[in-house]
Amino acid sequence: MPRTHAALPRLHVEPDLMAGIELTLSKEQSLYLAAVLRKAVGDEVVLFNGRDGAWLARLVSDSKKSVTLQLVDQIASQTPRSDLWYCFAPLKTERLDYVIQKATEMGAGRIQPVITKYTQVNRLKHDRLLANAIEAAEQCEVLSVPEVAQETSLDKLLDSWDSKRQLVLADESAPSSSPINALSGLRGTPIAILIGPEGGFSDDERSKLLALPFTIPISLGPRILRADTAAVAALAVIQATIGDWR
Ligand code: SAH
Repeated sequence: MPRTHAALPRLHVEPDLMAGIELTLSKEQSLYLAAVLRKAVGDEVVLFNGRDGAWLARLVSDSKKSVTLQLVDQIASQTPRSDLWYCFAPLKTERLDYVIQKATEMGAGRIQPVITKYTQVNRLKHDRLLANAIEAAEQCEVLSVPEVAQETSLDKLLDSWDSKRQLVLADESAPSSSPINALSGLRGTPIAILIGPEGGFSDDERSKLLALPFTIPISLGPRILRADTAAVAALAVIQATIGDWR
């Protein structure tokens, strides 16, 4: 992928982006640019909002409280949000931050927390999850931020499941076999991955999942991975075999 303006800071902003407009950043983004990165008038940054592609912008004021930017030029056109869903049993705080960032870097377009029987946490701070997704999107140069859904129960998720979407189940008790073979026929099909909690899926959950026609169980090898390791491993296998790493 040709990387243009790779050295410039990238910031996600809400407003529409078009040539010539001026845009004033939030206090925290202004502080980050003017104080942390010590950007000054005339310096350039890249802005994106998930709708209008990436835009080159120049600082016209560099006060730490409110930086104003003038939009110069669109440097990348908007790419569609990925259709890959990352469904997962939420983990405790810093590991939760980690999996949100990794799912974003690995190209998930929708992040769906799923409360299962052995899930350790219930109350999720949605704005913290979203902030992690935005931070990861800025860093890994995606042009759209994944949608972070409100948490749901496994039963509710499955009851409302669109059977056109295949549910790739990372099943720690699946017999060790190549996930690549299991995934090979799925190219071009809407996909979701489901990763269980540290305590794994309950027997009832597993048998319910395996009985569903849209479930594709995969093994991630002969060792038991931690849920955050399994997230990255599963997303890597999917992106490499049927996703956008090809
Ligand atoms: N504590 C459980 C394992 C849970 S690991 C036990 O000892 O059985 C957390 C999640 O990561 C699992 O629910 C599964 O989704 C995924 N996972 C971990 N290792 C895996 C493997 N070898 N194959 C497939 N999925 C795996």
